[in-house]
Amino acid sequence: MKSRLSVEDLKRMFIYVAQQVIDHEKYLTTIDKRIGDGDHGTNMALGFKEVRRKLESEEQKNVNEVFRCVGMTLLDTMGGASGVLFGTVFISGIVGLEPQNEIDLATFAQIFQSSLAALKKRGKAKLGDKTMIDAFEPATFALLEAAGKGLNFVDAINLAAEKSREGMEKTKQYVAKFGRAKSYGEAGIGHADAGAVSVSLIFQAIALWIRENIQ
Ligand code: ADP
Ligand code: MG
Repeated sequence: MKSRLSVEDLKRMFIYVAQQVIDHEKYLTTIDKRIGDGDHGTNMALGFKEVRRKLESEEQKNVNEVFRCVGMTLLDTMGGASGVLFGTVFISGIVGLEPQNEIDLATFAQIFQSSLAALKKRGKAKLGDKTMIDAFEPATFALLEAAGKGLNFVDAINLAAEKSREGMEKTKQYVAKFGRAKSYGEAGIGHADAGAVSVSLIFQAIALWIRENIQ
């Protein structure tokens, strides 16, 4: 079984992720309407349509440039609080990382670990605050643990997707501490956080692509 992705693979993976986000625009909007302002699907679809276009039409020479392209594009096109936060996720993970021609499980884990730290520093939210972090942190920890144990790429990414989904489900029980959902207080209980739903969707898409394209 292959244990790493080429730059071309990584681009195709993110194009697939972008398509999944675009296809779920209405769903994400519905979720954000419950305890937010209902723009999350629109924001995400806008950003990821441009991500898809750029990855399809522009050249990225290494793994770092692919991540930078995704992050900068989200930052430039999404707008709003979440544009900065989703941009941060993809840009900050590769800061200080030597240019990579391939990406393996350990590098994925390392990139997302740096992203998570940057996201928490920028947004000030922590686990349990009903944000995208509730889906992102468990997935990142799963990748780190799997890399440490020497698990194969597919099993590790499946586990990360599962943990991400579980984390997203848990946001239903939480009271929001950030964003527009905060003003709903206890009334938000029972509803998932839109950003966590997006992060979970992104990890499901990554896992699906890797499962089907790595053998
Ligand atoms: P806006 O909040 O501008 O309407 P979106 O609806 O696109 O933007 O995104 C809202 C999502 O952003 C929330 O569901 C939450 O997951 C995430 N979010 C908001 N504030 C923070 C924060 N401080 N840290 C991490 N994530 C946050
Ligand atoms: Mg919103």
